Amino acid sequence: MLEQKIKDTIRDVADFPKPGIIFKDITPILKDPVLCKEITQALAEQLQSLNVDVIAGIESRGFLFGMSLAQALNVPFVPIRKAGKLPYRTIQQSYALEYGTATLEVHEDAFISGQKVLIHDDLLATGGTVVAASQLIEKLGAHVAGYSFIINLEFLNGKQRLQTFNPNVFSLISYL
Ligand code: 5GP
Repeated sequence: MLEQKIKDTIRDVADFPKPGIIFKDITPILKDPVLCKEITQALAEQLQSLNVDVIAGIESRGFLFGMSLAQALNVPFVPIRKAGKLPYRTIQQSYALEYGTATLEVHEDAFISGQKVLIHDDLLATGGTVVAASQLIEKLGAHVAGYSFIINLEFLNGKQRLQTFNPNVFSLISYL
């Protein structure tokens, strides 16, 4: 079953990026092209009925399956990046981290007003990153149609937080 195959392939890395954190490393998935295709297909099936216009992927791991998902759904892909990486004119949104803040950017012409945008990232933790991405999308006059992740760290309650913005929060696997 796909869920078990994904869990068996993800590598837990202790004390990364800092002591006490167990990081879910998805790079072993990328070495398995069959599994990558199955993940893309499963993500696409979850989203089929939403009829989204655009997939927005979050730097950097959200680019990996965000782009393949956009191809599977035959819609455009938009990268949402960390500050200072995008070459053209951008708008910014800052958000709180455990210590300090971070800033996301998107090109100001990334969306057409009224487009339905699906945000994809590899993993949902607290939801802070995709909330900031949602604010960027809304600032440009587009609408967030839902959220898609490979992994949901359910014990951090990000899904409940996101559901106050939009009820369509999908993931392939969860850790309780
Ligand atoms: P949040 O903003 O939901 O608290 O954190 C989610 C962001 O942090 C995502 O962009 C995700 O890629 C990254 N992240 C946090 N913890 C992990 C982890 O254990 N594994 C992976 N692959 N990404 C993580």
